[in-house]
Amino acid sequence: MNKDRAAQLRRNLGAKLSELEHLLAPAFEYDPVLPGVVTVSKHRCGNSGCACTREGKLHEAVRVLIRFKDGYATRSLCEENLESFRARTEAYRRLRKAKVELRTWQKELVRLLDEIERARRSLDGLSEEDRQRPLR
Ligand SMILES: [Zn+2]
Repeated sequence: MNKDRAAQLRRNLGAKLSELEHLLAPAFEYDPVLPGVVTVSKHRCGNSGCACTREGKLHEAVRVLIRFKDGYATRSLCEENLESFRARTEAYRRLRKAKVELRTWQKELVRLLDEIERARRSLDGLSEEDRQRPLR
């Protein structure tokens, strides 16, 4: 058993645990969520007399792209609803991001557990022949 290596791996394990707590923070929030994203697009209306054509002051259209089970849909947002939609879609994105990061975290942890297991292996009491055989 490699004690220095095992100690280092235990420290890594502790760090992974703190990482998990940080990573799950969005799941502890109470904020309502909505699967979607708020987008602001700028466009020209095509009217030659309009400021968008004359001065390049483009029109802004604020929309929300909502993810339904059967597909996406875009809905226009009025100023009044913007903050509510923005907050919910951002809370949703934080949760989704946590899920993606959790998968990476899990892979790294499994790798770490394998390393810990290897570092803690002991061949005590095995015959010389068995010591030569690779362990699983
Ligand atoms: Zn215009």
